[in-house]
Amino acid sequence: MAEPRVVVYPGSFDPLTLGHEDIARRCLKFADKLIIAVAHTATQHKDRLFSVEDRLAMIEECFSDEPRVEVADFSGLLVDFCKRIGARMVVRGLRAVSDFEYEFQMALMNRNLWPDLEMVFMAPAGRYTFLSASLVREVASLGGDISGFVSAPVLRRMREKTVS
Ligand code: ADP
Repeated sequence: MAEPRVVVYPGSFDPLTLGHEDIARRCLKFADKLIIAVAHTATQHKDRLFSVEDRLAMIEECFSDEPRVEVADFSGLLVDFCKRIGARMVVRGLRAVSDFEYEFQMALMNRNLWPDLEMVFMAPAGRYTFLSASLVREVASLGGDISGFVSAPVLRRMREKTVS
Protein backbone atom coordinates (compact mmCIF):
# COMPACT_ATOMS: atom_id res chain seq x y z
CA MET A 1 0.00 0.00 0.00
CA ALA A 2 1.23 3.53 -0.78
CA GLU A 3 2.43 5.61 2.16
CA PRO A 4 -0.15 8.13 3.41
CA ARG A 5 0.52 11.60 2.03
CA VAL A 6 1.27 13.84 4.99
CA VAL A 7 1.10 17.55 4.16
CA VAL A 8 2.20 20.39 6.42
CA TYR A 9 0.57 23.81 6.34
CA PRO A 10 2.83 26.09 8.41
CA GLY A 11 2.23 29.65 9.54
CA SER A 12 1.57 31.88 12.50
CA PHE A 13 -2.24 31.68 12.28
CA ASP A 14 -2.61 34.58 14.70
CA PRO A 15 -5.55 34.14 14.33
CA LEU A 16 -6.73 31.50 11.84
CA THR A 17 -8.79 33.31 9.17
CA LEU A 18 -11.29 32.05 6.62
CA GLY A 19 -8.48 32.42 4.05
CA HIS A 20 -6.33 29.92 5.98
CA GLU A 21 -9.33 27.60 6.37
CA ASP A 22 -10.05 27.79 2.66
CA ILE A 23 -6.48 26.71 1.82
CA ALA A 24 -6.54 23.93 4.43
CA ARG A 25 -9.82 22.49 3.13
CA ARG A 26 -8.53 22.59 -0.45
CA CYS A 27 -5.45 20.62 0.70
CA LEU A 28 -7.69 17.82 1.87
CA LYS A 29 -8.39 17.06 -1.79
CA PHE A 30 -4.89 15.59 -2.07
CA ALA A 31 -3.63 15.14 1.51
CA ASP A 32 -4.33 12.00 3.50
CA LYS A 33 -3.33 13.87 6.62
CA LEU A 34 -2.92 17.63 6.98
CA ILE A 35 -0.86 19.03 9.83
CA ILE A 36 -1.54 22.68 10.51
CA ALA A 37 1.70 23.71 12.16
CA VAL A 38 1.91 26.85 14.27
CA ALA A 39 5.37 28.37 14.32
CA HIS A 40 6.75 29.60 17.64
CA THR A 41 9.04 31.99 15.87
CA ALA A 42 7.43 34.24 13.30
CA THR A 43 9.61 34.34 10.17
CA GLN A 44 8.45 37.86 9.35
CA HIS A 45 8.19 40.39 12.16
CA LYS A 46 4.67 40.31 13.60
CA ASP A 47 3.04 41.51 16.80
CA ARG A 48 1.55 38.59 18.63
CA LEU A 49 -2.08 38.51 19.73
CA PHE A 50 -2.74 34.90 20.82
CA SER A 51 -0.42 32.47 22.57
CA VAL A 52 0.59 29.41 20.56
CA GLU A 53 -1.60 27.28 22.88
CA ASP A 54 -4.67 29.44 22.15
CA ARG A 55 -3.98 29.27 18.41
CA LEU A 56 -3.70 25.47 18.52
CA ALA A 57 -6.97 25.24 20.47
CA MET A 58 -8.89 27.43 18.06
CA ILE A 59 -7.58 25.64 14.97
CA GLU A 60 -8.53 22.31 16.52
CA GLU A 61 -12.05 23.59 17.20
CA CYS A 62 -12.44 24.96 13.65
CA PHE A 63 -11.52 21.57 12.19
CA SER A 64 -13.28 19.35 14.72
CA ASP A 65 -15.40 18.04 11.80
CA GLU A 66 -12.31 16.85 9.95
CA PRO A 67 -10.42 13.85 11.38
CA ARG A 68 -7.67 14.17 8.76
CA VAL A 69 -6.57 17.54 10.16
CA GLU A 70 -4.14 17.63 13.07
CA VAL A 71 -2.51 20.59 14.76
CA ALA A 72 1.06 20.88 15.96
CA ASP A 73 3.51 23.56 16.98
CA PHE A 74 7.14 23.78 16.03
CA SER A 75 10.21 25.88 16.61
CA GLY A 76 13.36 25.92 14.58
CA LEU A 77 13.56 25.03 10.92
CA LEU A 78 10.45 23.93 9.06
CA VAL A 79 12.49 21.28 7.20
CA ASP A 80 13.60 19.72 10.48
CA PHE A 81 10.00 19.57 11.69
CA CYS A 82 8.92 17.93 8.41
CA LYS A 83 11.72 15.35 8.62
CA ARG A 84 10.78 14.56 12.20
CA ILE A 85 7.14 13.84 11.42
CA GLY A 86 7.77 12.20 8.03
CA ALA A 87 6.18 14.87 5.78
CA ARG A 88 7.58 15.63 2.33
CA MET A 89 5.10 18.24 1.21
CA VAL A 90 4.46 21.75 2.50
CA VAL A 91 1.60 23.97 1.42
CA ARG A 92 1.62 27.74 1.41
CA GLY A 93 -1.13 30.11 0.31
CA LEU A 94 -0.50 32.79 -2.28
CA ARG A 95 -2.79 35.80 -2.14
CA ALA A 96 -1.18 38.20 -4.51
CA VAL A 97 2.04 38.96 -6.32
CA SER A 98 3.24 40.63 -3.11
CA ASP A 99 3.43 37.20 -1.41
CA PHE A 100 5.38 35.71 -4.28
CA GLU A 101 8.92 37.00 -3.78
CA TYR A 102 9.20 35.98 -0.14
CA GLU A 103 7.57 32.58 -0.72
CA PHE A 104 9.76 31.84 -3.72
CA GLN A 105 12.91 32.67 -1.76
CA MET A 106 11.83 30.48 1.15
CA ALA A 107 10.94 27.60 -1.19
CA LEU A 108 14.38 27.63 -2.78
CA MET A 109 16.12 27.93 0.57
CA ASN A 110 14.11 24.99 1.92
CA ARG A 111 15.05 22.97 -1.15
CA ASN A 112 18.70 23.67 -0.43
CA LEU A 113 18.23 22.58 3.16
CA TRP A 114 16.33 19.41 2.21
CA PRO A 115 15.99 18.52 -1.50
CA ASP A 116 13.29 15.88 -0.83
CA LEU A 117 10.77 18.45 0.36
CA GLU A 118 8.25 19.86 -2.13
CA MET A 119 6.57 23.22 -1.56
CA VAL A 120 3.10 23.56 -3.07
CA PHE A 121 1.44 26.95 -3.55
CA MET A 122 -2.29 27.35 -3.56
CA ALA A 123 -4.64 30.22 -4.35
CA PRO A 124 -7.63 30.78 -2.07
CA ALA A 125 -11.16 31.61 -3.22
CA GLY A 126 -11.14 35.10 -4.74
CA ARG A 127 -13.08 36.58 -1.84
CA TYR A 128 -10.21 35.81 0.54
CA THR A 129 -7.33 37.21 -1.51
CA PHE A 130 -7.30 40.48 0.47
CA LEU A 131 -7.43 38.79 3.86
CA SER A 132 -4.53 38.55 6.28
CA ALA A 133 -4.34 37.75 9.98
CA SER A 134 -2.63 41.08 10.65
CA LEU A 135 -5.47 43.00 8.97
CA VAL A 136 -8.03 41.06 11.02
CA ARG A 137 -6.10 41.92 14.21
CA GLU A 138 -5.96 45.57 13.22
CA VAL A 139 -9.66 45.88 12.31
CA ALA A 140 -10.66 44.10 15.55
CA SER A 141 -8.44 46.32 17.68
CA LEU A 142 -10.15 49.39 16.18
CA GLY A 143 -13.62 48.01 16.93
CA GLY A 144 -14.51 46.83 13.41
CA ASP A 145 -16.71 43.85 12.58
CA ILE A 146 -14.58 40.82 11.69
CA SER A 147 -17.38 38.25 11.65
CA GLY A 148 -17.06 37.81 7.87
CA PHE A 149 -13.35 36.97 8.08
CA VAL A 150 -13.01 34.33 10.80
CA SER A 151 -15.13 31.39 11.93
CA ALA A 152 -17.10 31.19 15.19
CA PRO A 153 -14.44 29.67 17.51
CA VAL A 154 -11.99 32.40 16.47
CA LEU A 155 -14.57 35.18 16.68
CA ARG A 156 -15.45 34.18 20.24
CA ARG A 157 -11.82 34.31 21.34
CA MET A 158 -11.23 37.59 19.52
CA ARG A 159 -14.20 39.13 21.34
CA GLU A 160 -12.86 37.89 24.70
CA LYS A 161 -9.52 39.53 23.88
CA THR A 162 -10.93 42.88 22.86
CA VAL A 163 -13.20 43.22 25.91
CA SER A 164 -10.53 42.12 28.39
P1 ADP B 1 -0.81 35.91 7.66
O1 ADP B 1 0.06 36.27 6.48
O2 ADP B 1 -2.27 36.09 7.39
O3 ADP B 1 -0.33 36.46 8.97
P2 ADP B 1 0.37 33.33 8.26
O4 ADP B 1 1.71 33.84 8.48
O5 ADP B 1 -0.27 32.58 9.36
O6 ADP B 1 -0.73 34.38 7.80
O7 ADP B 1 0.35 32.48 6.90
C1 ADP B 1 0.32 31.12 6.78
C2 ADP B 1 0.14 30.81 5.30
O8 ADP B 1 -1.21 31.10 4.92
C3 ADP B 1 1.01 31.60 4.34
O9 ADP B 1 1.36 30.76 3.28
C4 ADP B 1 0.08 32.69 3.86
O10 ADP B 1 0.46 33.17 2.59
C5 ADP B 1 -1.21 31.93 3.79
N1 ADP B 1 -2.38 32.82 3.88
C6 ADP B 1 -2.69 33.72 4.81
N2 ADP B 1 -3.86 34.33 4.55
C7 ADP B 1 -4.31 33.80 3.40
C8 ADP B 1 -5.45 34.03 2.56
N3 ADP B 1 -6.36 34.96 2.86
N4 ADP B 1 -5.56 33.30 1.44
C9 ADP B 1 -4.62 32.38 1.12
N5 ADP B 1 -3.52 32.13 1.82
C10 ADP B 1 -3.36 32.82 2.96
